[in-house]
Amino acid sequence: MVSKTSARFFHRLSTIFQPISVVPKNAEVKKVDITSRSQRLMLERGIIRQASPGCFHLLPLGVRSLEKLTDLVDTEMRKIGGQKVVLPTLTNSKLWEVSGRLETVSSELFKVRDRHNHGYILSPTCEEAVSSLVASLAPISHKQLPLRLYQITSKFRDEIKPRFGLMRGRQFLMKDMYCFDVDLASALVSYKEICHCYDRIFEKIGINFVKVLGSSGHMGGNLSHEYHYKADVGEDKILSCPKCNYFANVEVSGEQECPKCGNTSVEISSGIEVGHTFLLGEKYTKPLNATYLSGDGKPTVLQMGSYGLGLSRILAAALEVLSSDDEIRWPPFLAPYKVIILPPKGGSKEEIHLKNSNLVQSLYARLEQVDTLKNNVIIDDRINLTIGRRFLEAKKTGYPYIIALGKKITESPSKLEVTNLQTDEQLHLEESALLDYVSPKETCAVDRLAFLRSSTPI
Ligand SMILES: [Zn+2]
Repeated sequence: MVSKTSARFFHRLSTIFQPISVVPKNAEVKKVDITSRSQRLMLERGIIRQASPGCFHLLPLGVRSLEKLTDLVDTEMRKIGGQKVVLPTLTNSKLWEVSGRLETVSSELFKVRDRHNHGYILSPTCEEAVSSLVASLAPISHKQLPLRLYQITSKFRDEIKPRFGLMRGRQFLMKDMYCFDVDLASALVSYKEICHCYDRIFEKIGINFVKVLGSSGHMGGNLSHEYHYKADVGEDKILSCPKCNYFANVEVSGEQECPKCGNTSVEISSGIEVGHTFLLGEKYTKPLNATYLSGDGKPTVLQMGSYGLGLSRILAAALEVLSSDDEIRWPPFLAPYKVIILPPKGGSKEEIHLKNSNLVQSLYARLEQVDTLKNNVIIDDRINLTIGRRFLEAKKTGYPYIIALGKKITESPSKLEVTNLQTDEQLHLEESALLDYVSPKETCAVDRLAFLRSSTPI
């Protein structure tokens, strides 16, 4: 089917490192407390492997998905003037002494010492580090503001009890943006703009989300919002008022009634926090002396905001929300591959029928020409296995479109069997109709927005 000479032009499942382990066998994995559906499915389907409690190897399919999310976030950050940086993983402990957080969040910090006995922490977040960077410059001019710096890097937290796989690990991938403004009014404008940017990111991922008034916790500051996916394993409790559309973390609103309209029949649900925004004011810039030169030439303390997205957590939470107990479902936008092609079993009458055709290759090439499918098609070339067996595996891994070259391939005209996991449709289509079927359709953007978003206005 797929000749050796042309093989390098195709994504082929036989070449993907995807260790399937339905029943965890090795001793290390047996020790894993499997505490959520997404954790179990990701382990079983070879998306992640546990390295130690709360630390995971992310394997090729998982990396492909996370890179798509990273691309999406980079694109949206650039649209709002975000400039990408990479701050050190090791933050000097002294900066956290200055902000006071070395003491307040001490138990969750990984602390290390260098050979000269200087203390560092493995950064869980970088408000101090970035404030210190800005403070180290000669006071910047008000003309350079707002300054919006962000990074996408691993962060660390010494969880007492890591759980839910990638959702509450000791190492995780986070996008953190820090925005510096001349005064609080401008900082609030930035805050709203970045929140809208987050709305767009979550809309693009395509899972219902809720934006709620958040608690500032250890971060401090004046205003905070959280983005949540609703799920039973979520560790936060969200209050929603159906009367006035008020949403808040119960930590800020109390559990019994809506603080906005007094309605006592509020709903409480569990949420997984996937994003958090903070308007911090001078909380970090003042003690770390991050200033700018105002119009009259006076050094003035910068107003700051901090904006986090838990990228590895978004990935796991998305699978938690969408998957069944046995089968992964990805947000189509983040699926490692969007289409898998299943050629007939070696030696079957369908394979013999196709012997002298290049149907698989041409189908692959045509699918790759569809805009949204470019670099997103893979062939399950393990033709020693039956097509039925490979179909069940494809469903478990959750490729949004599964195209099987089954019995109807020998008919005239020949038909392909396409399974759409988003709609549970299964159709037999000729190639041209199939290409039409998998091409993106226009959707009504306004309806989609209303469907996805429920949030408290800022
Ligand atoms: Zn209300």
